Amino acid sequence: MAEKKKVKRIKVDLEQCNGCRSCEMACSTFHALPKYSSTNPARSRIRVVMKQLNNEYVPVRSTNYTKAKCAGRRVYRINEGEFRECSFCGTICPSRDLFKDPTSNLPLKCDMCEEEPSAQEPFCVQACNLGALTYEEVDEEVEEEAELEEAELGLQALIDKYGVHKITDVFVRLAQNS
Ligand code: SF4
Ligand code: SF4
Ligand code: SF4
Repeated sequence: MAEKKKVKRIKVDLEQCNGCRSCEMACSTFHALPKYSSTNPARSRIRVVMKQLNNEYVPVRSTNYTKAKCAGRRVYRINEGEFRECSFCGTICPSRDLFKDPTSNLPLKCDMCEEEPSAQEPFCVQACNLGALTYEEVDEEVEEEAELEEAELGLQALIDKYGVHKITDVFVRLAQNS
């Protein structure tokens, strides 16, 4: 069933991004356990794809989970730089380590910083002083079932990979820390 909901978005202006990685630092600091206790861009839900020689920087946010890698074989040529399709993909995918916690290997999905309702804007947007990231809220028809399906797919992927006991332990630990 479709329902009108406020949808949060982050728009990216590639022209403004200089690859400073402040967004990665802010995201990983906010999501550290306990919160703000450490900074590690490898744990960030936004990563900046870089080709420094060509001055090309593309911030990519993690999106949905997938159980299997896709058949994508596209190669993008930007100026003199060549990027494979996976470079700009936000999917938490078994084919690579990106958007997985370096210690637990658990998926790192962008939650739009919803754990901090007092924040006016997501932390990566606040950290971007160059205006490469812009936050907006728009009213959109959202399929309720699609949202549930995505949550279930994510949970199932975790259980398939790590087993139900480990996932249960993680939930219990997170609940105790929250
Ligand atoms: S990272 Fe994205 S593009 Fe690459 S195989 Fe996985 S789903 Fe496909
Ligand atoms: S919106 Fe929040 S969770 Fe998502 S990438 Fe930005 S800082 Fe990280
Ligand atoms: S903080 Fe802004 S300018 Fe810096 S890397 Fe992130 S998106 Fe680019």
